[in-house]
Amino acid sequence: HFTTTAKSVSLCNNFFLFSGNFPEKFNSEKERKEFSWEPNREETGRSFFSVYFLRLPREFVWSFLVLCVWRGGMSTTTGTVNYRNGTNRSSLRTQSSASTSGGQKSTLKSKSVLRKSSPASLGGGSGAASKSGSGGDAGVPGRVRVAVRLRPRNGEELIADADFADCVELQPEVKRLKLRKNNWDTDTFEFDEVLTEYASQKRVYEVVAKPVVEGVLDGYNGTIMAYGQTGTGKTYTLGQLGEEDVADRGIMVRAMEDILSEVSLETDSISVSYLQLYMETVQDLLDPANDNIAIVEDPKSGDVSLPGATLVEIRDQQSFLELLQLGEAHRFAANTKLNTESSRSHAILMVNVRRSLKTRDGLSSEISNGNSHMTKSLKPPVIRKGKLVVVDLAGSERINKSGSEGHTLEEAKSINLSLSALGKCINALAENSSHVPFRDSKLTRLLRDSFGGTARTSLVITIGPSPRHRGETTSTIMFGQRAMKVENMVKLKEEFDYKSLSKRLELQLDNLIEENERQQKAFVDEIERITVEAHNQISEAEKRYANALEEEKLRYQNDYMESIKKLEDNWSKNQKKLAADRLALGEKNGLDITSNGNRSVAPALDEVSELKKLLQKEAQSKMAAEEEVNRLKLQLTEFKKVEVSGNSEIMRLHKMLENETQQKEKLEGDIATLHTQLLQLSLTADETRRNLERHDSENTSGAHPESAENPPVGRLFEQVGLQKILSLLEAQDADVRIHAVKVVANLAAEEANQQQIVEAGGLTSLLMLLRSTEDETIHRVAAGAIANLAMNETNQELIMDQGGIGLLSSTAANAQDPQTLRMVAGAIANLCGNDKLQTKLRSEGGIAALLGMVRCGHPDVLAQIARGIANFAKCESRASNQGTKRGKSLLIEDGALSWIVQNAKTETSAIRRHIELALCHLAQHEGNAKEMVKEGAIWELVRISRDCSREDIRSLAHRTLTSSPTFLTELRRLRVDVR
Ligand code: ADP
Ligand code: MG
Repeated sequence: HFTTTAKSVSLCNNFFLFSGNFPEKFNSEKERKEFSWEPNREETGRSFFSVYFLRLPREFVWSFLVLCVWRGGMSTTTGTVNYRNGTNRSSLRTQSSASTSGGQKSTLKSKSVLRKSSPASLGGGSGAASKSGSGGDAGVPGRVRVAVRLRPRNGEELIADADFADCVELQPEVKRLKLRKNNWDTDTFEFDEVLTEYASQKRVYEVVAKPVVEGVLDGYNGTIMAYGQTGTGKTYTLGQLGEEDVADRGIMVRAMEDILSEVSLETDSISVSYLQLYMETVQDLLDPANDNIAIVEDPKSGDVSLPGATLVEIRDQQSFLELLQLGEAHRFAANTKLNTESSRSHAILMVNVRRSLKTRDGLSSEISNGNSHMTKSLKPPVIRKGKLVVVDLAGSERINKSGSEGHTLEEAKSINLSLSALGKCINALAENSSHVPFRDSKLTRLLRDSFGGTARTSLVITIGPSPRHRGETTSTIMFGQRAMKVENMVKLKEEFDYKSLSKRLELQLDNLIEENERQQKAFVDEIERITVEAHNQISEAEKRYANALEEEKLRYQNDYMESIKKLEDNWSKNQKKLAADRLALGEKNGLDITSNGNRSVAPALDEVSELKKLLQKEAQSKMAAEEEVNRLKLQLTEFKKVEVSGNSEIMRLHKMLENETQQKEKLEGDIATLHTQLLQLSLTADETRRNLERHDSENTSGAHPESAENPPVGRLFEQVGLQKILSLLEAQDADVRIHAVKVVANLAAEEANQQQIVEAGGLTSLLMLLRSTEDETIHRVAAGAIANLAMNETNQELIMDQGGIGLLSSTAANAQDPQTLRMVAGAIANLCGNDKLQTKLRSEGGIAALLGMVRCGHPDVLAQIARGIANFAKCESRASNQGTKRGKSLLIEDGALSWIVQNAKTETSAIRRHIELALCHLAQHEGNAKEMVKEGAIWELVRISRDCSREDIRSLAHRTLTSSPTFLTELRRLRVDVR
């Protein structure tokens, strides 16, 4: 290898020297590129060494000579040396490199600007991070990686700077860059990567971008950014599409190629936004109309997003290229419109890669394989989201040159704000300052994650070779140096996909429910089958047992009969024998008695032993039969046991069923509670709204409060639905009922709603409530609603038909609360005003109920009672005028008159007015006159005819007094003048 690396580097410099003359030789730009951008080509290698050979100090010649021979000779070297000005430049260089090579060590030592950076290539740290897996929440330290790229001289520079050396010298082997300060002094800087003008686009991609892209695929955020003076190759490095020459493809295109080849489009997704940041506004390059996109920061995670930006799903490379072209076209158009150049704006490409991790612990959605699977599948799938941000920054010269191009000051500030803010942030981060002014510009807000955040960041700083731009180049290099000090904490962007987990669990649940149903059915069937089988077996066994028993019995009987027969035979045989013997003995005349006796005993003994044997046999078969019986009994108990176990299983199932029912009930209870809460909420909202509106109407228009009530009640009506509200009247929960009845009462207060309520069965439900509950509040509210509904004639008949009087009466009898009584009395009072219902009302105890409520004494209640009586009396007087009513008033029959007379002078005007009217109505019917005289009502009439403040009542009283013969007689008798 080379003797010293330092020397080999200066070798490269000499090659630059010659390449300066290339345009003379190359006809087209493309040709030139091909040559100068292929450093691996044989020619390059040869010229490289040959030049070096020419200018090396003597002591090095030998080693390189050897190397050149090894490279295959030097036959073509002359071709390279022969360029115009070659010698000239060579001598120029010799001067400078002499100082360089000679003072190499001292320069390195003396320069304070020299930075030591980790020898790892770009993204070296990121490799470690990715290996450490998730890396915990804190992340893994990862410094911003910085590469410097030198653009080859362009046509103009080749001519204009032909006589000048480049302002920089690159030493890629040691990753150093030397910046010439003047003819005798240079500064040396180290970078993570030093890319010469020969560096191919592919190599640039591999060292700058590839590790970042790989990180993005692994779920880390990544940033690739180019910074440098306009014309130094930022866009070339990042955005070149390479349509003419594939080797020219820039980082964006190559990154997408890598991403597309890595992901699987079934499970993963890639989406892209393309934006331009100009004068502190973010414009959508994919939708030019969208020209002021807001930057949104999540206060918790600090994540920055642009929800307004167009997001395009990418599925193939071609569509991505088209998208970039579209963006470029829009950028051009936007810049033309705004009279800007792209060099003043920042272009930002955002690529979101979302990947789902495949079955990390063998997750399975199958549920058929038992519970172990189920618990495993409770782990949600893991999603990794990496975001790649590629930023083509505005030209860095803008920082210093603002205002010089005829911009207003404001404009100039805006143009450069983002870039200078970026510089400030990087300075602050490099110095570990406690405050980093991220919020100062849109760019720094957007790049918050890229510098000092969680992303892996690669920065390419691009510089040109021209000494005329030394100032710009220096500041670019310094920017890169500072950026190298920025530490990020690289963090894995991984999250659980709860949505898909929940979807999966739902599926599992459904499957389980189905399976459970099936099993339950199968179980019930099985039980049934077992029971039937057991029954069959038992009956079969019983049958078998009976048969066996019968058989056995028969057999024994037969045996027994046989043995009896045998015995009898034997016995008769013996008898015969004995008789014969006796006969013989008698003939022999009593001789040899003993021997004779002996002869007859022997067969008898035989007989006995035979009998014994028979007996034994019998005993044995009896035992066998008993055994058989026992066995059958055992079998029977066994079957019984099976039956019992079947029964207990059935019991268990029953219990399960009960539990499920209970659970269902509980759930229904919960639903009811939720309904209550809903109702409560709507009620509260309703009330609040009503209060507010009442306030409003009082304060402003002074309109009738009712008019403000309409909308909320109506709305509630629409929202909840009448049927539902009415159904809640029968709810289990007392609270629900109370709220529901309140809502219904509210609705019933509106005449417009009444018909609908009645048609929906609301009246019936309300009446039912009076009957079914003891709750006073419900009674009060329900009675109020009924009173409202009872204003209408049709409803009055309905109420009567449904036993309303009886219900209202019993409610009145039990109620203590004056408000309840007021409502009930009001309802009855309304019914009292219906001509058709008079008799029925009275016969069902309506008047008695009304008079019963007098006990309460509350003026509001009394006023309603008086109104009812007046209504009733009015109907009666109408009827008697028409001749349909004869005889005494039903009111008088029910004993109302004494109360009327007692209260006729009451202070409360509402009561008194009704009583006065009632008296006048009663007095119009001659049938009542006698009673009225007797009870003293006539005096009240006289008083009314004189003192009543209302003219019409006064004259009505007078008229009735003077038109009734009974009254006239009485008045005359007492000498009272009513004229
Ligand atoms: P900037 O990013 O500052 O806008 P460009 O990328 O537009 O610079 O480059 C300016 C010109 O230089 C373009 O014509 C581009 O093709 C050329 N160029 C830049 N870098 C290189 C390079 N490394 N090799 C060849 N040509 C280059
Ligand atoms: Mg550009």
